[in-house]
Amino acid sequence: MSYLSIAENVGLVKSRIEKAAITAHRLPDEITLVAATKMNSAEKIAEAISAGVSVCGENRVQELLEKNAQNAYAGSSIHFIGHLQSNKVKQVVGVCDLIQSVDSLELLSLIDSRAKSLGIRQEVLLEINIGGEDSKSGMVETDLPLILEKASAFSSVFIRGIMAIPPISNSAGENRVYFARMRQLFIDNSAKKYDNVSMDFLSMGMSGDFEEAIAEGSNMVRVGSAIFGARAYPEKDN
Ligand SMILES: *Cc1c(COP(=O)(O)O)cnc(C)c1O
Repeated sequence: MSYLSIAENVGLVKSRIEKAAITAHRLPDEITLVAATKMNSAEKIAEAISAGVSVCGENRVQELLEKNAQNAYAGSSIHFIGHLQSNKVKQVVGVCDLIQSVDSLELLSLIDSRAKSLGIRQEVLLEINIGGEDSKSGMVETDLPLILEKASAFSSVFIRGIMAIPPISNSAGENRVYFARMRQLFIDNSAKKYDNVSMDFLSMGMSGDFEEAIAEGSNMVRVGSAIFGARAYPEKDN
């Protein structure tokens, strides 16, 4: 797929982000690039970090812990972007700077308890199943305000925004409608002030559509294959 080096790909992705931001009359610096590192080795991750990646996102707890033990993320923040099972909360809280994939009040509560016992405050995003797909994790959008209202009970978590993985699209522009809905949700729920909530991040957009996501207000894009090349194995959660 890609014959460029990881460093060259990072440079290209960054300039595409910059261009998309300028086109949308936004500041390129407002947009955080998260390198989605699943299936990629510590060596490749190091290459991306030295080329200017400052945030890495992992999907699977096991892979995260293995690579973290190899010091793969040195020089970068770590985000958890995959589906998080409740029995794995303990392994992720305090290890990741941001857990992007909190999709229920139960999970939020478990993260809060664990963070409390560690004496830290865990930053999280709430994941929205914006395409309403049965196969995807994420809460239904109407649950968002209900969870934000209840956040005041969870003083060891800090909700920093929302995240979505829209349906797989077959043609350019297909996901615009979902990105626009996410933007509206973000705006609507930013207007009201809740305890333990600060709506700072709207995480959406991947290799195939991050420019469209930026056009619709994304300020955090998660990019894997455009940096590391096509993944060798089929994806699965956890
Ligand atoms: C793999 C992954 C990405 C990046 O996907 P690409 O299409 O390779 O850019 C983004 N977000 C999540 C949650 C992922 O699992």
